[in-house]
Amino acid sequence: MTSAEWLARGQARIPGGVNSPVRSYRSVGGTPPFIARGAGPYIFDVDGNRYIDFVMSWGPLILGHAHPEVVTAAKSALERGSSYGAPTPGEVELAETICEAMPAVEMVRLVSSGTEATMSALRLARAATGRSVVVKFAGCYHGHVDALLVQAGSGGLTFGVPDSPGVTPAVAADTRVLPYNDLAAAEALFGREGGKIAAVIVEPVAGNMGLVLPVDGFLQGLRRLCTASGSLLIFDEVITGFRVGWGGAQGLHGIRPDLTCLGKVIGGGFPLAAYGGRRDLMAQISPSGPVYQAGTLSGNPVAVAAGLATLRRLREPGSYERLNELGTRLAAGLSAALPDARVEHLGSMLTAFFPDTDRFARFFHAMLARGVYLPPSQFEVAFLSLAHGEGDIGTALDAAAIAAAT
Ligand SMILES: *Cc1c(COP(=O)(O)O)cnc(C)c1O
Repeated sequence: MTSAEWLARGQARIPGGVNSPVRSYRSVGGTPPFIARGAGPYIFDVDGNRYIDFVMSWGPLILGHAHPEVVTAAKSALERGSSYGAPTPGEVELAETICEAMPAVEMVRLVSSGTEATMSALRLARAATGRSVVVKFAGCYHGHVDALLVQAGSGGLTFGVPDSPGVTPAVAADTRVLPYNDLAAAEALFGREGGKIAAVIVEPVAGNMGLVLPVDGFLQGLRRLCTASGSLLIFDEVITGFRVGWGGAQGLHGIRPDLTCLGKVIGGGFPLAAYGGRRDLMAQISPSGPVYQAGTLSGNPVAVAAGLATLRRLREPGSYERLNELGTRLAAGLSAALPDARVEHLGSMLTAFFPDTDRFARFFHAMLARGVYLPPSQFEVAFLSLAHGEGDIGTALDAAAIAAAT
């Protein structure tokens, strides 16, 4: 069966035929390839095509597909049983590794998705401060948490639907949305209602409206405002954690958030995420404190084994230098090949912003036809992995030179 046939069959039983909206190619048109397997930097579809993958499962696969060390670790964990609903040594080791990498994370709780991490961090922030208001930034995506599904970038931006039906006005009423990188707007809001603000949640490097870097002083300013008004600063590092550097974006910028959300890379391609931060705050989480949060599959031993194997490899000297070298090469090449696009990059994250989404869609399909698999939206970041080589970058840039002319 072809991808088109699978999609038609899937659409009868799965909304849009996909289990997460942006996979549907709604914003670029056409049929998404159905994937049969992945190896290193490549994916192979059921139609017999091979692609150089620059999506990498939307960020988690920083070592590439089916990395041997990850496969071995996950297999051997699986052979010992897939889940116990009881504590395991691996969870402690993963928690220790996270806390070592990010000094602001003194304690951490493992969950199964980034959405769960942000949702739980918000609950904790509201409980700890006794306040209700949460501040987010337009274009930042924090998962499909009701209160955060307001001007949420990602699928929201792609589809031009900033709010979702089903999010009640009452829930959205405690959410304030500010423009990203606009510290003056944040100062004004804190001036008006700082005493009501439980938390500011922010992607310290924004990755869900295309790649947008924080301007100088923005994150430092948020830290200062939160400290002054007794609000908590939550860094959503679900993308950037262990991606932009071993210490995440907070390490790069030298800022200690009160709470941090992680996901994607820490699960090595399995459903695993985490939230953590100040010990006095995390001690309020059940069962050591009253703030309830739980999960049947939280800290799943197979996911934890894959995550630990991934972090072990990343910790080896030179990993991030190598990722940065590849990203720099791809960004420079794309800038040269695409005169009408503006290329943003940080380490192994990259976005080429085209003048309009039609132009992006044409480029996207021209690349796909040449075996280069990019995120199917102008507002999603492309990811590199340690499995990509100079040859893959060269092939992608050759394709871009041709696609640029289409
Ligand atoms: C992907 C993402 C999430 C949500 O994670 P899921 O595992 O998809 O629920 C949250 N925040 C950011 C910044 C993300 O990129």
